[in-house]
Amino acid sequence: METRELFDRYVVPNYGRFPLALARGEGCRVWDEAGKCYLDFGAGIAVTSLGHAHPRLIEVMAEQAARLVHTSNLYYTRPQGELARRLVEVVDIPGKVFFCNSGAEANEALLKLSRKYGHESVPPPPRHTTGELSGRARHRHHVITFRGSFHGRTFAGISATGQDKVKTGFTPLLESFSHLEFNDAPAVLSAITPETVAIMVEPVLGEGGIHLAEAHFLRQLRTICDDYGLLLFFDEVQCGLGRTGDWCGWKSIAPDVVPDGVSWAKGIAGGFPLGAVWIRDHAVEMKTGEKKSLADILGPGSHGSTFGGTPLVCAGALEVLRVIEEEKLLQNARTLGAYAVQRLEMLPSPPIAEVRALGLMIGIELAEDFGSANDRAPSLQLVDRLHEAGMLSIPAGNHTIRWLPPLNVTRAEIDAAIDILARVLQKSV
Ligand code: PLP
Repeated sequence: METRELFDRYVVPNYGRFPLALARGEGCRVWDEAGKCYLDFGAGIAVTSLGHAHPRLIEVMAEQAARLVHTSNLYYTRPQGELARRLVEVVDIPGKVFFCNSGAEANEALLKLSRKYGHESVPPPPRHTTGELSGRARHRHHVITFRGSFHGRTFAGISATGQDKVKTGFTPLLESFSHLEFNDAPAVLSAITPETVAIMVEPVLGEGGIHLAEAHFLRQLRTICDDYGLLLFFDEVQCGLGRTGDWCGWKSIAPDVVPDGVSWAKGIAGGFPLGAVWIRDHAVEMKTGEKKSLADILGPGSHGSTFGGTPLVCAGALEVLRVIEEEKLLQNARTLGAYAVQRLEMLPSPPIAEVRALGLMIGIELAEDFGSANDRAPSLQLVDRLHEAGMLSIPAGNHTIRWLPPLNVTRAEIDAAIDILARVLQKSV
């Protein structure tokens, strides 16, 4: 039976898959079962941050697998502690880390933290004491997120996500979310009620088509959170840990902003499943009268995950972070991201309408009428044609494709990608 037939017969059809069966990878390239080679500018949707089959990652994983794979979180294991320390170092703000397995779970942890904080902490007296805001909710639980955002596929994740397509057929959802216009701080200010407890934002909308938050917007969100005692969460699942050319995506935009929580997954362990959240070490006044660090609010028994932070995956993530540091891949993401944009901007417009990018998070938006003779979304049509030409890219909405190559992509690989795209676009007009 062919691979596709196995899927048709035995795999739940919840993904719209492209007709490619991939068999192996090396660096920035993958091969399908027929032996055709593709330049991989999707990296598994920003996951294989060191490319495929990186020798150092393979070696560390093999060594750790032979020593200790899993113990449960009933015990201490060295790699988890070391990785938590490293993540706090890269954020460079005092805090602590919780480990899980995916981006949705990381956001779930932040959202559960906001509930506990809302239930158990004393809301600071609002600085602006007029109107509705003069009241204090007994349990603050409402979270503000933004249109076009994507926060994962759990019930909390789809409730938080600012895109209707992920919600269809799954109501009733969690009610505690408002989705506001991205980059509109006055809208946030007017949406705050005594129930509001947190704001969750992607510093770069990834699934939403690579739209960057403005520095001013992120700074205003921090001020609003300070004024109303709200938690500020950055969903860095896609944009974090090097992709934008900085360890922290938001620091590529507004380095001075201090969040209360950050979620990661995707590239953190170079392709092995791991999610994590950083929580700020920040004193909170509790209803019991004690002061507690925000980072300690999720106490014993409050949350957990069987597989979260195994020694195996943490050893892998530590090696990924080491390689990023030693091979200067943050710099590479900045330099080659800028180079790719410069070359993309020289391609004809139309069919390219706009290029939006931060480091190696690159969005290429197509003109409104691209592929209009066909019912299939323009972004999918272009991705199909790029497949034929030997290249993987990721659609984001109807008119945008994303390039999210590994952080160690080379200039020659960027040149090869641009040449393929130029050829494909030339044939399309
Ligand atoms: N948050 C963001 C910004 C994402 O891009 C994604 C996945 O695309 C998620 C959360 C969900 O991550 P996962 O698929 O690992 O649950």
